[in-house]
Amino acid sequence: MVANVPPDHVVIFGRPGSGKSSLAERLGADFGYTLVRTGEMLRDAVRKGGFLGKRVENHLARGDLVPDRLIFELLEANFRGPGMTHLLFDGFPRTIGQVPLLDQFERRYGFQVGCYLEIDVSREEAVARMTGRRVCPTCGATYHLISKPPKVAEVCDKDGTRLERRPDDTTEVVEFRQQVYDDHAVPILRHYEQTSPNLCRHVNGNQPFAKVYAGTCEALGVADPSPA
Ligand code: ADP
Repeated sequence: MVANVPPDHVVIFGRPGSGKSSLAERLGADFGYTLVRTGEMLRDAVRKGGFLGKRVENHLARGDLVPDRLIFELLEANFRGPGMTHLLFDGFPRTIGQVPLLDQFERRYGFQVGCYLEIDVSREEAVARMTGRRVCPTCGATYHLISKPPKVAEVCDKDGTRLERRPDDTTEVVEFRQQVYDDHAVPILRHYEQTSPNLCRHVNGNQPFAKVYAGTCEALGVADPSPA
């Protein structure tokens, strides 16, 4: 029996190029999740050019992970602000060292993750997809030239801004980021498989977006509100 209410709080995992950010956006729109996206928060900090932005700029350009301590500061500042309910974490925890940080936030801010969701995509497929990826520098919406094109070529549907390719989407950096994922995500997923096996779900991401989204809804125990 499919319910129409997904878990209150979810963590989504997937290698760069798995489509996890597009899925997260759609889940946010359909089920009212607040997206907690550390990558987007970091890029925003770089754009603003403040102290944190300066400290993380080089890490991002290299495709390297930002130190756990800075991720903690970034999230802590967000948790102190309003609107942190019905959370969907996209990009956190990203290292095994960040797992206890999530535990700490759960205790301190009184929420509990109800599902750890992994979007499974092969490394080859992910690399191929990333070369077509585009992002809106104004609102952060993500597009793909083939699988999720904007209505007008290279222009954001939401605010008309010219789309950009992220500086960390070059081939060399893309390969490096895949390696970073393999090195860091596997131990995290293993940890949750051991500590919370009944909260872990996998979705086959090697399919067209609509099918992956349907699989994601199924994994969350809800009906896809707009089936293809
Ligand atoms: P993707 O999953 O496509 O790599 P993200 O937007 O999630 O993209 O992350 C972009 C970059 O931001 C990463 O390559 C890394 O440098 C940094 N980053 C994001 N989240 C974290 C995190 N939780 N810990 C450390 N670095 C992070």
